[in-house]
Amino acid sequence: MYRAGVDIGGTGIKMGILDDLTMEKLWFKEIPTPQSGYEDICRAVRDAIADSGYGEKIRAFGAAVAGEVDAEAGVVVRSYNLGFRDVPLRAVFADLFDAVPVSLCNDADAAIVAEARCGALAGTQAAVLLTIGTGVGGGVVLNGSLFKGGQGHGSEPGHMLLRYGGKQCTCGARGCIEAYCAATRLAEDAKRAQLGNDAKDVFNAAARGERAAQEILASYIDDLAAAVASIANLLGPEIVVIGGGISAAGELLFGPLQAAVSQKTFAKRKYSIVPAVNGNNAGWIGAALL
Ligand SMILES: [Zn+2]
Repeated sequence: MYRAGVDIGGTGIKMGILDDLTMEKLWFKEIPTPQSGYEDICRAVRDAIADSGYGEKIRAFGAAVAGEVDAEAGVVVRSYNLGFRDVPLRAVFADLFDAVPVSLCNDADAAIVAEARCGALAGTQAAVLLTIGTGVGGGVVLNGSLFKGGQGHGSEPGHMLLRYGGKQCTCGARGCIEAYCAATRLAEDAKRAQLGNDAKDVFNAAARGERAAQEILASYIDDLAAAVASIANLLGPEIVVIGGGISAAGELLFGPLQAAVSQKTFAKRKYSIVPAVNGNNAGWIGAALL
C-alpha cells in the first residue's frame, strides 16, 4: 500500500511516499515551512504530493508535528516552534486529502515508530530517541513499545533541566536541554562567529579544521553529552538514538559525544549512542506508517 507522510518542523517540511510492504521510498521532497499560517502549510503539502505523480495511489496520509499533539482528537495542542495553539490539523488535512484516512502525531513519536519498524530501535526493550532540529523532541521505548507516559502525553526529554535558571527556552521555562542542544543553538553560534547561518556550517568548518568552529562544536557536544548522560542515568537504555538534522553529522558528532557521555554517566557506564537509521526521514516515514 502506498502511504504519504509529512514532518512539519519550524523551518522545513519533509514529505515522502513509501510502499509499506517493501518499505521502499518512492518519492521525497523538502520545502521551507510557510510562515503564513497552518492552512497555507497544509495546502503546500497537498500541492506537493499532488504533483508527485503518486497522488491517486495514496491510501493513507500521516502528519507529524513538532509540539504537543492530541493524536486522538487530531489537534496540535501547542507547538512553540510553529506558533500553533489548538490547531485542528487532522481535519484540515482530511478536507484536502479527500477519502484518504489521515493521522496526526508528534514528530518524535513518529520517528520512534519509523526506527522501531526499520531502524535503530528494532527489537529494543529500553531505548531513548532524541530528535534534534529546531527544537529537541524525544521519546522512550519501554518493554519494547513506545512509552505513552502516565498521563498519555509521553515524555519531553528536551525540556528536562540542563542549567537551573539558564537560557530562555521556547516552552517558557529556563535552562531546558532544548535551549542548549537544539540545532538552533549551533546556528546562532555559527552566525556569531561568522561561520555561516546554520548548524551544518559549523560541522563543515570544524571538518576543515577551523579552530572557532571546533570550539563551538566542543562546547555544544559537552552540553549534549550532559543531557544524554542524565537521561541514560534515569533509564539505563540499551541504546540512545539521535535523529533530526544533527544526526547527519556522522563521526564528527558521534565520536566525541560517545566519549563525553561515558565520562558523565554514573560509574562511567557506557551507553551506545547511534544516529537514527532513517536519519532526517524518520519523522515523515513514521507519520506515514501511523
Ligand atoms: Zn523547555
